[in-house]
Amino acid sequence: MTTQTSAETSPVPAPEASMDMAIPGHIDPVPVPRPITPRADGRADLMGLMREDIAALLETAGLDRKQAKLRSKQLFHWIYHRGVTDFDSMTDIAKQMRPWLEERFVIGRPQVVEAQVSSDGTRKWLLRTDDAQEYEMVFIPDADRGTLCISSQVGCTLNCRFCYTGTMRLVRNLTPGEIVGQVMLARDALGEWPKGAMDQLDDDEDAASYTADGRLLTNIVLMGMGEPLYNFDNVRDAMKVVMHGDGLALSKRRITLSTSGVVPLMARCGEEIGVNLAVSLHAVTKEVRDEIVPINRKFGLEELLQACADYPGASNARRITFEYVMLKDKNDTDDDARELVRLIKGYGLAAKVNLIPFNPWPGAIYECSDPERIKRFSDIVFEGGISAPVRTPRGRDIMAACGQLKSASEKKSRAELDRLAEEKQAALG
Ligand code: SAH
Ligand code: SF4
Repeated sequence: MTTQTSAETSPVPAPEASMDMAIPGHIDPVPVPRPITPRADGRADLMGLMREDIAALLETAGLDRKQAKLRSKQLFHWIYHRGVTDFDSMTDIAKQMRPWLEERFVIGRPQVVEAQVSSDGTRKWLLRTDDAQEYEMVFIPDADRGTLCISSQVGCTLNCRFCYTGTMRLVRNLTPGEIVGQVMLARDALGEWPKGAMDQLDDDEDAASYTADGRLLTNIVLMGMGEPLYNFDNVRDAMKVVMHGDGLALSKRRITLSTSGVVPLMARCGEEIGVNLAVSLHAVTKEVRDEIVPINRKFGLEELLQACADYPGASNARRITFEYVMLKDKNDTDDDARELVRLIKGYGLAAKVNLIPFNPWPGAIYECSDPERIKRFSDIVFEGGISAPVRTPRGRDIMAACGQLKSASEKKSRAELDRLAEEKQAALG
């Protein structure tokens, strides 16, 4: 099955034995299977750190507590609000202190391996970590918003059958720095940092005036590679930095975390992160969901829907989104649509449905439902009183559409993909 195939072709060492088990549908979190390689120059990367963490590092490096606190506040602002990466540009930090910082710290960005632009304006970046792990992010410009789709893991432990990332095994969790780094890099690329010198720090500065308005990057979705709730701590810490009013200051209302249904962590997601929730439902019966979203074997539909009903902060104004990928002859009948309405209403959910036309990838065993079928499905759900727009696929020409992300090191030859497809077909019986 896929894990073995990936392990044969991947340049990275094989993971511990436990990761090779229980396929299809490896549904257990794997916290951090690979240690982060320390920087060769011994300097610490401040990217992704909160103010308190920066202060702690400064104190360890020799500053007294008061100094460390003040400097961390200045650094935080320069790093996340201004997007500055060299200490020498930090004009309110004493000149003699800047080389001291330079010797000990860096303000990193993910390395860009490749940047592509689609004919529809969608941009995709293949990124690389310091220890040479590759992951992807996508920017989707629209008339009224710009959405950055970021990754939370390199690969994924789950093996949803229609998902390209699902054919990779999990290489490792991304760190907060690597997650926040994606947002920073996108802002760099879009040229979206406030200009001008910051000569004084003002506690009352109105952070909101620097957020969405007039910016290209207005929204973030955790819908790239990986299952964000299986990298909970790092995703939470990264989102805290992204939301902080003195830094990037993105509102939690403009951030959406998509989960395949890691039920035990959903409440904590609402309480500790507080962002919008999207749930990859994709099927309304145990049989079909077990097959296409294997985590369903561990956390079933009832449990999942109850966790949605209990999601902290969900309301009519902040509805949960159910993602539903349209797979021909698999989950797209009128009965499926009616059952979807029944379930959502049965659990009293304030929810909307996002119908995603299946994006094919080389070797996939499914086809997308016909447009008329998708329209009919959408109409039935609408008639049931639930909003069910069909998502327009973006960036298809550069494989940037939903569920098509996969690192270059994992991309397979045609022959390998054919073999993989056969294996998957056999597994499905
Ligand atoms: N792991 C998380 C978030 C990443 S996937 C999750 O599963 O929710 C983001 C969305 O894209 C999910 O709803 C996922 O099911 C969907 N998706 C995956 N592969 C797809 C494909 N080939 N075509 C359309 N949508 C896909
Ligand atoms: Fe992982 Fe999400 Fe893809 Fe499933 S759909 S394999 S959870 S990235």
